[in-house]
Amino acid sequence: MPERVFNFSPGPATLPYEVLTQAAKDIVNFQDTGIGLIELSHRSKEFMAVTDEAEALLRELMGIPANYKVLFLQGGASTQFAMVAMNLLSPGQTATYLNTGVWAKNAIKEAKLFGNVQVAYSSESTNYDRVPSSDEYEVAPESEYLYFVSNNTIFGTQFHEFPVTDKTLVCDMSSDIMSRQLDVSRFGLIFAGAQKNMGPAGVTVVIIRDDLIGKSKNFLPTMFNYKTHADKGSMFNTPPCFAIYVVGLVLKWLKKIGGVAEIEQRNRAKAALLYNRIDATDFYRGHAQPASRSLMNVTFNLPTPELEASFAKQATSKGLNGLKGHRSVGGMRASIYNAFPYEGVEALVAFMDEFEKGNR
Ligand SMILES: *Cc1c(COP(=O)(O)O)cnc(C)c1O
Repeated sequence: MPERVFNFSPGPATLPYEVLTQAAKDIVNFQDTGIGLIELSHRSKEFMAVTDEAEALLRELMGIPANYKVLFLQGGASTQFAMVAMNLLSPGQTATYLNTGVWAKNAIKEAKLFGNVQVAYSSESTNYDRVPSSDEYEVAPESEYLYFVSNNTIFGTQFHEFPVTDKTLVCDMSSDIMSRQLDVSRFGLIFAGAQKNMGPAGVTVVIIRDDLIGKSKNFLPTMFNYKTHADKGSMFNTPPCFAIYVVGLVLKWLKKIGGVAEIEQRNRAKAALLYNRIDATDFYRGHAQPASRSLMNVTFNLPTPELEASFAKQATSKGLNGLKGHRSVGGMRASIYNAFPYEGVEALVAFMDEFEKGNR
């Protein structure tokens, strides 16, 4: 194995090494067909099998009920901000949003193009340092759905209890899908860009309950209608073949190591190690309030911006990459998604000890 650094990048992010080597091989010659994976027709039986397997694994690992469709779409998670509203909200109708960060705010902006938006909660005034519990907001009775972002990638907060509501629950799970066990039947629609926890950029997974498909009264462009893709098994047009294939490899890897239950334990152990170190002294300060802390993106500051710059630079020289925080929080962000190894967190914690000693 060549020299690999610990990559704390928020996305695209670390993937399992065995997935990368398999993909590298298949890109040249897929299953001895003499054709490279990215040269195969998306309608060939070989590629149809790739898509079918990826979907089957996703259904198995997440326990997706039979009355939900799984779609593999393009346009990134950001396209879903508009697509959700276009498909679930007709003019004059209302949807409720929880504003817990930049990604929620972007989704609110898009939804306003299609209907009334009730922002029932916002943590913007404290720079999104927390997420609410269900008794901290009220959903308008006429609301069509309640939209939230399960993990706020930039700020490092995460819902540890999902909203309790009788409304259709819509969730942007881009940065924590498959990181913990959950009951899909509580949701009407879940979407996630693959590039944080599931694969490369280029595919967005949408899990949608059957009754929500085709109910819009809007005049929808064909490609923006969930029904188009649901009716054709995500093969209405050329799907993002390579990205779907790599997602399939990642899911196989996840199944092999013990599935979502096992990865949840590992994710908890990684995050605990890092948060314990942050809390050990006052040199490092977590951005998120403790009850809202994310298991995926750990955000923290140092005493001064100069120390933060020096921390990031020295960390990089020690093979700890991608730790610089998002400009809206500053400081550091360690993204420790499913494929990120425990040893990488140990290495970071050791470096934090050393850096503090040298700079107190
Ligand atoms: C990264 C991210 C997005 C944006 O994803 P794109 O695929 O780049 O559009 C949306 N929501 C969340 C929670 C994210 O982490």
